[in-house]
Amino acid sequence: MIIVMKQDATREMAEDVARRVEEMGLKTHLIVGEERTVVAVIGDDRRKDREKFESCAGVDSVVKILAEYKLASRETKAEPSVITAHDLKLGGGNFGVIAGPCSVESEEQILETARLVKAAGAKGLRGGAFKPRTSPYSFQGMKEEGLKLLAAAREETGLAVVTEVMTPHHVDLVCEYADILQIGARNMQNYHLLQAVGECHKPIMLKRGASATMDEFLLAAEYILDQGNQQVIMCERGIRTFESHTRFTLPLASVAYLKSKTHLPVVIDPSHGTGHANLVPSMCSASVAVKADGIIVEVHPDPANAKSDGAQSLTPAVFEQTIQECSKIAEVLGLTMS
Ligand code: PEP
Ligand code: MN
Repeated sequence: MIIVMKQDATREMAEDVARRVEEMGLKTHLIVGEERTVVAVIGDDRRKDREKFESCAGVDSVVKILAEYKLASRETKAEPSVITAHDLKLGGGNFGVIAGPCSVESEEQILETARLVKAAGAKGLRGGAFKPRTSPYSFQGMKEEGLKLLAAAREETGLAVVTEVMTPHHVDLVCEYADILQIGARNMQNYHLLQAVGECHKPIMLKRGASATMDEFLLAAEYILDQGNQQVIMCERGIRTFESHTRFTLPLASVAYLKSKTHLPVVIDPSHGTGHANLVPSMCSASVAVKADGIIVEVHPDPANAKSDGAQSLTPAVFEQTIQECSKIAEVLGLTMS
């Protein structure tokens, strides 16, 4: 259940309600919205006496939450969450553009890409330093050296750095350098990792597992939220189907569905979603058209020689044209590109 406080209720009143709930053996989360504060009650509250809270000072109403993902649910927080990192803004009418190579490969490669994607309009820089590769013989990433290069690129360009963390042991290390931590598709159900990033104070970009249902995806986000980190970005990156013409199948209806169920921002990864650079520009435009909260796109100065995912990487020139087209659609829809 959630306990909705009156508009003029004080923080002390909300904390007093939370204390009473906790005395009943349940867990609480205080969610301070623009209009109202809500005390979200976590745990099995079916036998608890809801009416008892209605008479507490400052309480407006007590509402049963039907969704299993309580904190991610729109029933708990109606207004969209806006997540900010440097000039990058995702959610609440802000369409954020994140771009960069699949992997950080060298100082020259990441700095050149950062300059070019910034000039094209990106506000976030992606680049994997720890890479989850299907084969143990493929390039595994530059690791901490790669993180340092990403930080240097941020220093020069001001772009917010988005990079993957693969294990709970690396969360502190990646937090030192990144502005947004990415949880890759392969780790969407690595619950220890989700809990570990839930304890840090940086936004988390959670990628959908290739075979995860929407409920599983939302419950994975719930693991992070439940640890107290309220900054979670949902990323649709395509699912595995019978179709083999594209690397994965990219369901854009996920945006509409997720936005009806959660207040968290939803971004699209058209690069992994299609696997082919020639299909990426139209899927970027489509992401704006479905009113996603942003895109994360692979861009490489020399895709043919990329150490990973070259086939799906845009050249900086094609990326620039793509963003110009996206901007026109955003303007029509009243979205602010960031
Ligand atoms: C990536 O972003 O390069 C990546 C490995 O993505 P995913 O986890 O979606 O496969
Ligand atoms: Mn990749």
